[in-house]
Amino acid sequence: MKHLGPHVSATGGVENAPLNAAKVGATAFALFTKNQRQWVSAPLTAASIDKFKANCQQVGITPEYILPHDSYLINLGQPEAEALEKSRASFLDEMRRCEQLGLQMLNFHPGSHLKMLSMDDCLARIAESINITLDKTQGVTAVIENTAGQGTNVGFSFEHIAAIIDKVEDKTRVGVCIDTCHTYSAGYDLKTEEGYRKTFAEFDDVIGAHYLKAIHLNDTKKPFASRVDRHDSIGKGLLGMDFFRRFMKDPRFDDMPIILETPDESLWPEEIALLHRLETE
Ligand SMILES: [Zn+2]
Ligand SMILES: [Zn+2]
Repeated sequence: MKHLGPHVSATGGVENAPLNAAKVGATAFALFTKNQRQWVSAPLTAASIDKFKANCQQVGITPEYILPHDSYLINLGQPEAEALEKSRASFLDEMRRCEQLGLQMLNFHPGSHLKMLSMDDCLARIAESINITLDKTQGVTAVIENTAGQGTNVGFSFEHIAAIIDKVEDKTRVGVCIDTCHTYSAGYDLKTEEGYRKTFAEFDDVIGAHYLKAIHLNDTKKPFASRVDRHDSIGKGLLGMDFFRRFMKDPRFDDMPIILETPDESLWPEEIALLHRLETE
């Protein structure tokens, strides 16, 4: 059975995240380990870390199915020196929080060139940011999420991600998270059977299937190749149920966290149950 769950709230402390996941029937989850809209958050306390680990154990969700997401403020491809340092310091803090929590992955958006760097320079800068961070940490894999290509965000093509990975020194600690909404908005036609087959074949050719560590399973409100990032609830957007059926029956995604970043949290229990039905029907 696939491991599936939403990006849950960690309000009141990270230790609440596994409990929130269990409440909706999840067997995987994502969380922010700090306030995603602030540069600085208080360090995790020893008590909070212990409770987080105990609660994960209690609900039976192991670290390989937990995918923390970094703050939206961080831009590892930031053109300006001072702001780049701020992003790198914050990213390092995020990685250390993952280490403290016994987690294995940190999911992040690659970055934005802000019309001040060429695409190649921005991708090289992101790789350098990853190298600096991996050097100072242990045991946590940097998981690059593909983007919809909105604004000046890079990482919307598999070639961008391959170019970053190519420059990462420790290839055992870099991976990729595919967001299905972003993929479709970026111009990979996941909706049709042929497009689905081609997209994952292309991922394997350009990046390498072994780098795929996680999925963000979202429907999309915006048309194919729109380069706009608007998630929708499962089956309510443009991807269509055939896509979700195909995905849930595809064994390539069995051993990784599959995270729902769908907008209506009241639907999460239903969405999870529906997806598991598609898996076995
Ligand atoms: Zn994301
Ligand atoms: Zn995502």
